[in-house]
Amino acid sequence: MFDLTDKIALVTGASRGIGAEIARQLAATGATVIVNYHSSEQAAAQVVADIEAADGKAVAMQADVSDFKQAGDMIKAIKKDFGRLDILVNNAGTTRDNVIALMKEDDWDVVIRTNLKSAWNCSKAATRLMMRQRWGRIINISSVAGVTGNAGQSNYAASKAGMIGLAKSLSKEIGPRNITVNVIAPGFIPTDLTNYLLDDDSVKASIIEHTSVRRLGRPEDVAALAVYLASDEASFVTGQVIAVDGGLAL
Ligand code: NAP
Repeated sequence: MFDLTDKIALVTGASRGIGAEIARQLAATGATVIVNYHSSEQAAAQVVADIEAADGKAVAMQADVSDFKQAGDMIKAIKKDFGRLDILVNNAGTTRDNVIALMKEDDWDVVIRTNLKSAWNCSKAATRLMMRQRWGRIINISSVAGVTGNAGQSNYAASKAGMIGLAKSLSKEIGPRNITVNVIAPGFIPTDLTNYLLDDDSVKASIIEHTSVRRLGRPEDVAALAVYLASDEASFVTGQVIAVDGGLAL
């Protein structure tokens, strides 16, 4: 139904988990996808191979997006190689959970840098291109934790709430240039980030019990919304926070 032919899309942290699936679905809809990764070179190459096997177009690009220069240089390279950047998905993320009494300064700094500063770094460089093009889509992958807060995740929840403030502000600032900025707030999706929790059957059962649709989420659930938000059909949707959580945060 949606058609992203001729669009150039960058998905940060696309070597694994939710980002990898967003990359696959954007490519399946016609976009050429830049699969950004930090350390998982082989996994990123596999995502590119999967996309190409399905007749899609993708390239892998290494950059630590929490680093201002590396993020900017990657987007300069995209401009040089592809001439434009239409869709930015700020997905790269990490956790370093602990109660505040035990959380170290470095746990705060790394999570804020990886989850929030990265989104600002990439948005700053991408909007330069999008404003000239007078078309763009920015999608921040936040979390229900950024909306409701979560005990033991003060750093993570603050970073994810920050992504919401960033998106709302940018949507006001650059909306007149035909650039929309939206936020997806996923609930519990089994990936490398969360799988350790699933080892505990009682935690898993409790999450399912608190989810209206009585199941865990899938990366596909998040990616389907990202494709819609990236499309022309979503041109009147901006500054929104949309939960993909099966009702977990209700
Ligand atoms: P994941 O499986 O752990 O994957 C994280 C991805 O982020 C990897 O591709 C990793 O790349 C990349 N990354 C980390 N630091 C980076 C950096 N500095 N520069 C570039 N890439 C970096 O996590 P996930 O569960 O798919 O999560 C993806 C996003 O969804 C995150 O923002 C997370 O907070 C959010 N989210 C997840 C859930 C969930 O339940 N899973 C729920 C709500 C929100 P390398 O492997 O190459 O280092």
